[in-house]
Amino acid sequence: MVDLLIKNGRIFDPGQKLDIVGDIAVYKGKIAEIAPVLTCDSRKTVDAKGFFVVPGLIDVHTHINWKGNYIGMPADLGLIPGGVTATIDAGSTGVSNFRSLLRYLDTCEIKAKLMLHVSAGGQMMSKQYAENIDPAAWDRDLFERAFEDYGKRIAGLKLRVSTDVVGSLELIPLKRAVELADHLHTRVFVHPTDPPKTMEEVVSVLRPGDVLCHMYHNEGHTIMERGEVTEEIWKAKERGVVFDVSQGRGNFSIRLAEKCIRQGFIPDTISTDLNIENWNAPWDFSLLMTMSKFMALGMSFSDVIRCTTSNAAAVYGEPDGMGTLKTDTDADISILSIEEKKIPFTDKYGDRIIGKQVIKPMVTIIKGNIFYCSCDVLAER
Ligand SMILES: [Zn+2]
Repeated sequence: MVDLLIKNGRIFDPGQKLDIVGDIAVYKGKIAEIAPVLTCDSRKTVDAKGFFVVPGLIDVHTHINWKGNYIGMPADLGLIPGGVTATIDAGSTGVSNFRSLLRYLDTCEIKAKLMLHVSAGGQMMSKQYAENIDPAAWDRDLFERAFEDYGKRIAGLKLRVSTDVVGSLELIPLKRAVELADHLHTRVFVHPTDPPKTMEEVVSVLRPGDVLCHMYHNEGHTIMERGEVTEEIWKAKERGVVFDVSQGRGNFSIRLAEKCIRQGFIPDTISTDLNIENWNAPWDFSLLMTMSKFMALGMSFSDVIRCTTSNAAAVYGEPDGMGTLKTDTDADISILSIEEKKIPFTDKYGDRIIGKQVIKPMVTIIKGNIFYCSCDVLAER
């Protein structure tokens, strides 16, 4: 007797080149077996006929300090109904207050880590209240203690290097953050909109595994010069700097993304930058809508799934145990449907692209437990 049997789905895990129609058995929270037909008894059965069964989606950039920051949204409610089983809070807190965020995340079902902001109080809300990121104010002992006590729950250090945040310090905070991250054996996540120097200079500071957020932002210097993705940007990608979408409402340009993707410059990870302001806005920013948008921009379904499963698991720091349907890993599973539907996507510049397909959430499973199920799954089909 297993706990859960997912029947007749298209089991699709590009990270291990798995693409079969079949069944998945879940036992004690783990994926027990995958085969074209399983006949074991089960406490619960889900008929996934006509749906894709993929590893639980990982959104590597969200703001989930619910009630703790102005922009924090509720983690479970905001993400699980959209097929997301794990996420990373993008620097809502720093060394002085991250423990309260961890305490909140302990009450959530979604798996979550946090980026530790280099500013002690975390990332402020926006331009009016930029955080102080002067390295002179950093307390190395507090960073060391945070990583000693909670290193497994910290995905890396976060900072913004926008001109209005760094001022005359320009790229000095980024350089110091990389040195500190080296010392702490962790990665750096950098928000680079309207940077004080070119994007080539920004990425030249980053090491393999460091993450450039908002890769398709269109404020000030971008990853393109004169209509081309520049050579240094290509080289950074080749040496392992991670390029992440972190779409957001203001940090994404459809036209810029379109040109980059046409030149073959696709993201390593697709994430949303979801927060209380865009979580349920009429213009939908959810992970599945963002993935649908990237399909409209020319990426394949396989690519967008890879960006939100195996690639995202590497950024999460669990390259083997998450973002995969391998047996004996936690049964974090998203069941999705692809609907043929004409859908317009827009951005803050008023540019539009029309998509032909939308990915819709059907069932979200974390450690073998069903936390979301669409009524479409229960309907007679
Ligand atoms: Zn963000």
